[in-house]
Amino acid sequence: MSTEFDYDLFVIGAGSGGVRSARMAASKGKHVAIAEDRYLGGTCVNVGCVPKKLFVYASQFPEMVHASKGFGWSPLGEATLDWPKLRDRKTDEIHRLNGIYQRLIDNSGAVLYDGRATVLGPNQVSVNGQIHTAETILVATGGWPFIPDFPGSEHVVSSNEMFFLDQLPKTAIVVGGGYIAVEFAGILNGLGVQTHLVYRGTRLLKSFDAEMSNKVTQGMIQKGVNIHLDTEVANIQKSAEGLEINFSDHTAMSADLVLYATGRVAATKNLGLENTKIVLRSDGSIPVDNNFCTQEPSIYALGDVIDRVQLTPVAIQEAMVLVDHLYGDKHAFIDYDNIPTAVFCQPELATVGLSEEDALKTYGDISVYTSDFKPMLQTLGGGDDRISMKLIVAKVSDKVVGCHMVGDHAAEIIQGIGIAIKAGATKADFDATIGIHPSAAEEFVTMREQTR
Ligand code: NDP
Repeated sequence: MSTEFDYDLFVIGAGSGGVRSARMAASKGKHVAIAEDRYLGGTCVNVGCVPKKLFVYASQFPEMVHASKGFGWSPLGEATLDWPKLRDRKTDEIHRLNGIYQRLIDNSGAVLYDGRATVLGPNQVSVNGQIHTAETILVATGGWPFIPDFPGSEHVVSSNEMFFLDQLPKTAIVVGGGYIAVEFAGILNGLGVQTHLVYRGTRLLKSFDAEMSNKVTQGMIQKGVNIHLDTEVANIQKSAEGLEINFSDHTAMSADLVLYATGRVAATKNLGLENTKIVLRSDGSIPVDNNFCTQEPSIYALGDVIDRVQLTPVAIQEAMVLVDHLYGDKHAFIDYDNIPTAVFCQPELATVGLSEEDALKTYGDISVYTSDFKPMLQTLGGGDDRISMKLIVAKVSDKVVGCHMVGDHAAEIIQGIGIAIKAGATKADFDATIGIHPSAAEEFVTMREQTR
């Protein structure tokens, strides 16, 4: 350890990227501190991926119960949701995970400070009035929901509050067309809330393959979500009955709850970065170089706060690369191409590689294979769900450059396909792979007829 400083590394923020960095650096014998003022595990564990997925499971039971009747089960009586029970059991599970994070940090040897850290200079951090010096500072403070300013914006909630609602609304409006909006629209709808999804654009999930995001939209409508595209909120007023939402086309709607899922911004406010050479981007995020170094040579940043790819596994990989760069043999790297990702909307969407639109721009000459079918569960179970799959092949190399799926277990299936695509698999490799029968996934290795 450097004798000049209290710590080799001082990490600000105990989310996915911060904790991984602290633990890995400590495991290399470095003297590490990590400060956190909110909750251990960051957004993902506390108000993101983990509780969201638990709510997705909760919201899927009515459909499963419905399907069970087709398999010979008689109804077990009228099912009702005990929302406080779901919410509190979820919170208990999150507390269990917070405890695991605490133990991971403690066992690594890193010192945890419970408080807000402020950067005082290139090598100085203050927490709860105590000043610490460090050779290297890592900012891993993540992001925070962005809610635009408009008349009545004080009446809306963000995804943060959705995990702790006193009661479930009868009617809800979700604003936005990205990951969080479609995921919460599916959860609320599945939990029995009359749900409206309001998006200012013409296509939900616009960064995804157009054909597949349209399938998601159709599937959501079929499951009962009321989707309003090309619609903008003008203002919101509170009334005795709830909230009155006025749209810019002069129509109006009332609801008990309005959720704004309109993006997340870097959490860099009041961090003291003005005491350094760092110049934030206009959206508040921190610019970094390939090694995650900021304009201040002793300060690094990674994860949502650098606003490259706002995904937990990306922050974790960035942490591995950073620690290898600072204290290892500098061989680790992160490749931002072909990152598999899933949206836990209903129907689920998962994807790796290029959309058809981007593949056309990149390669010009492509082959597209598609398949759309009824999942086997539905044959006896009833219901109108479908599964859609798509492979995009660059003709010049026969490489599969995009793979997309909408439907049950899409995330689980695409994770495996992600390895094949990362390894450069060709369509001939897919064709030579034996399918697992009967499964939905086997369709990915049996698509022979070119659609386009
Ligand atoms: P996204 O960036 O995905 O979507 C934001 C949406 O809000 C867009 O549809 C955007 O519309 C709309 N919007 C932005 N500003 C306004 C405004 N002023 N008025 C109306 N609409 C507006 O952000 P999310 O909040 O959904 O999620 C943040 C990030 O978190 C995601 O990008 C993703 O990286 C991560 N995440 C990942 C998940 C997963 O892995 N399953 C789950 C949840 C989040 P427009 O398109 O017109 O700009």
